[in-house]
Parts: sequence; C-alpha cells; structure tokens
Amino acid sequence: LETIHMLGYKIYSGSRRKLVEKIRYDFQHQLSNIVYAINPLKVMLACEKQEVREVLQSADILIPDGVGILHEAKKKQLRIQERITGIDFMHQICMLSLELGASIFIYGASQENLVQAVENLKKLYPGIRIAGYVNGYETDTESVNRLINESKADILFVACGSPLQELYIHANRDALPNVKFFLGVGGSVDVISG
Ligand code: UDP
Repeated sequence: LETIHMLGYKIYSGSRRKLVEKIRYDFQHQLSNIVYAINPLKVMLACEKQEVREVLQSADILIPDGVGILHEAKKKQLRIQERITGIDFMHQICMLSLELGASIFIYGASQENLVQAVENLKKLYPGIRIAGYVNGYETDTESVNRLINESKADILFVACGSPLQELYIHANRDALPNVKFFLGVGGSVDVISG
C-alpha cells in the first residue's frame, strides 16, 4: 500500500480505487482493517493527548481526509494521489458491501438522524444489508458490543465524532470478532440523513 510519512503519521497516498481493491482482497481473506480519516483537527487533538495520537497511529490505514493534509504534503513535496474523505470512503464501502454480500452495523449520531440515514442508505443502495444500528449517545459499551456481535455484522461504521469513535474502535476491536472492517465516519451519518 502506498503511504507517506508526515506529522508523525503514516498516511495512505494512493488512489481510492486501489484502496477499495485492498479492502476487497482482505475481506475475502478474512483479514480485518481499521480505517480512520486524518485531518488537521485530529492532528491538533492528538497534540494535546498522547493517547489519541497513539490510537490514530495504530490504524491499519489512515486516509487523507482534510485538504490541510494535502496542502502540507505538497509543501513537503510528498505526493498524495487524491483526497479521500470519510464520507466518500463510507459510500465506497457501502458499494463494496453489496458486491460482497457483507452486512453493516452503524454506531453513532442522534437516534433521529441515524434512523433517517439508514432509510436513505437503503434507497441509495437497494439490497444493502444493514444488520443493525445504535445511536451514539448509548455509552454502555458492553451493550453496544453485544448488539454488534448479535447482529453478526461484517462491517462497522462508527459515527460518534473524534476522538471518541477512534478510541472506541481501538479499545473494542478484539471484543468484536465478527467485524472485519472498521471505519470512523464522523459526521457522515448526519450528512446522509439529509
Ligand atoms: N456524536 C455521537 N456521540 C457523542 C458525540 C457525538 O454519536 O457522544 C455524533 C454526533 O451526533 C455527530 C457526530 O458524532 O453525528 C460528530 O460529528 P463531527 O462532525 O463532530 O465529527 P467529525 O466528522 O468532525 O469527526
């Protein structure tokens, strides 16, 4: 996988298409991936909190989400092929899920937006398998994990905002053995809810 090293992070620098191909391959070979989006705001948050920095650095793949990341790379004469935003990648994974017959669980956002977003996703991607969802104000991690495990979802989108979503994914990866793909999607559920 093509990456650049910048600001203390290893950031994916290839094309969106190649990344989707890698995720497809790994999925088919039972390999799991944690993907977070990196942007200047998260870099700043991580400057204040060592734990956040370590969690971001522990991602399998960091996608270049913010334009600030691309500007910084350009200044340093590092090449990032294209910007890949969290919401953009979430859509790519929805399409991939259709192809693979994989199911999705969404954790995050307000109940109202979440319900609307699920409805909109079903319209956008007919046949999409939403295995379950729970709003982001449910803080009992054990019960959230139980819901995810019982749903048997293959893919987990966490839309609880940063750094909450990254900390949750990092801490709970091993407690969610069925999930093969984790993506922190930030405010994407709000966007999809319209
Ligand atoms: N959120 C949540 N639980 C919380 C706090 C926030 O689910 O305890 C949700 C909030 O409803 C919104 C998202 O997290 O949908 C925050 O999105 P934001 O745009 O702040 O995240 P970013 O994209 O900047 O990471």
